[in-house]
Amino acid sequence: MRIVVLGGGFAGMEAVRVLERGLRGRTDVELQLVSDRNYLLFTPLLPQVASSMVEPRHIIQPVRDIRGARGFRFRRDTVHSIDLAGHRVLMAEGTLRYDRLVIALGGVTPTFNIPGVTEHALGYKWLDDAVVLRDHLIDLAEHADHEPDPDVRRRMLTVCVVGGGYTGVELIAELEDLFDAYIVPRYRGIGPGDYRLLLLEAGGEILRGVHPTLAERARRKLWREGIEIRTGTRVTRVLERAVEAEGELIPVGLTVWAAGVAGHPTLAHVDAERDRLGRLLTLPTMQLKGHPDVYGAGDAVAVEGKPDASIPIIPAALAHAQLAAENILRDLAGRPPGTIDFAPRGMLVSLGERDAVVEVLGLRFSGYAAWLFWNAVHLWKLVGFRKQLQVAVDWGLAQVFPRDTAIMRRPSRCAICAHARPPAARKPGAAA
Ligand SMILES: Cc1cc2nc3c(=O)[nH]c(=O)nc-3n(C[C@H](O)[C@H](O)[C@H](O)COP(=O)(O)OP(=O)(O)OC[C@H]3O[C@@H](n4cnc5c(N)ncnc54)[C@H](O)[C@@H]3O)c2cc1C
Repeated sequence: MRIVVLGGGFAGMEAVRVLERGLRGRTDVELQLVSDRNYLLFTPLLPQVASSMVEPRHIIQPVRDIRGARGFRFRRDTVHSIDLAGHRVLMAEGTLRYDRLVIALGGVTPTFNIPGVTEHALGYKWLDDAVVLRDHLIDLAEHADHEPDPDVRRRMLTVCVVGGGYTGVELIAELEDLFDAYIVPRYRGIGPGDYRLLLLEAGGEILRGVHPTLAERARRKLWREGIEIRTGTRVTRVLERAVEAEGELIPVGLTVWAAGVAGHPTLAHVDAERDRLGRLLTLPTMQLKGHPDVYGAGDAVAVEGKPDASIPIIPAALAHAQLAAENILRDLAGRPPGTIDFAPRGMLVSLGERDAVVEVLGLRFSGYAAWLFWNAVHLWKLVGFRKQLQVAVDWGLAQVFPRDTAIMRRPSRCAICAHARPPAARKPGAAA
């Protein structure tokens, strides 16, 4: 018998952990994990990679290093489709038959078919996105530093983040720190009034799902720092050097797209029900309707009739995965499956250095204490002592030394960097 888990994120790794433990000593069951990245990415620290606070490698843990006595096989491969009727997973480098399957491929950031998003906005979901974003920001500063026209300079240093959820809010707060604490003091051609940070949110409020008092506290803090927040503002087009929203064309140097979570496109063909975001619908047992051998977990799925259990956050992904794995073990033992019982127990949102808003077990607090709590929780949750140490050292060093802002790519080869410069500064024939 073979159990296959698809996706090496929080959900996939948790499913493997529970299955591995439950199957210890069983030689008749083979456990395989398939993922296109060979590491687990700790997403809560992505904003700090974008702002050069934390080194990229310090927030990832290679799958092969996560456990010592590995009772599962890992295959780095890309899933192209799943043949539910034939019990097969079709991948870039072959096909894998399964007896039980856990789908934990995560989600994607939806573009809502808005023109220009794919071409002109930077994504913000994977480690490479954060590294590319960081390089672009620094590159913008390098060019703006010797730009004599103040209007062009301000346009180049206008960063627009689309999406006022916690990912967009945490990112823009980090960017404010980067500009304020590093770029303005170190780039002699850039003054405090030369950069502009803009957060656009289509809904009526930022940080939906966070307690209104804390959301308001966060909003006030961002305003005080000069970050422009526009709620009820729907983006209708992203252009080379502008964002169109509510009929207005806003000139920008860089657009970052952080507008929610939608179902994984690889699963679009799977013959199963979906919610309005395109996520696969599971029963409260985490089984796909009509496919009792197939389980879903994490951002890739929504649980039918359980909105609280369908929020795309790490604790929900872990709860799904734990239950999916336990139900597979129950099934193998001939016992009936359990059902999901999950509701988020809190929310932690960082607002940059020394500030955060926290709601945990009914307790709400903000400011420095909340920031310390945020740091402690995330350090504790980071997988692996080595990574915990590395991030703690990064945080410590950031208090004493300037951030390391060396650009790692060759900027001349990047179309978006070329967009950021005024046309006269572009080389003839440069990519547009
Ligand atoms: C910037 C950012 C910050 C966040 N901060 C927080 C936070 O502070 N707290 C919180 O609770 N949540 C946070 N989240 C949400 C959290 O990261 C997700 O809810 C969580 O990662 C979901 O886990 P998952 O395993 O379902 O998906 P993922 O973690 O996305 O894992 C999916 C896995 O599947 C693999 N995969 C994808 N496609 C394929 C394919 N075709 N073939 C093979 N493998 C594939 C991927 O490489 C990945 O390993 C954040 C998300 C982002 C983007």
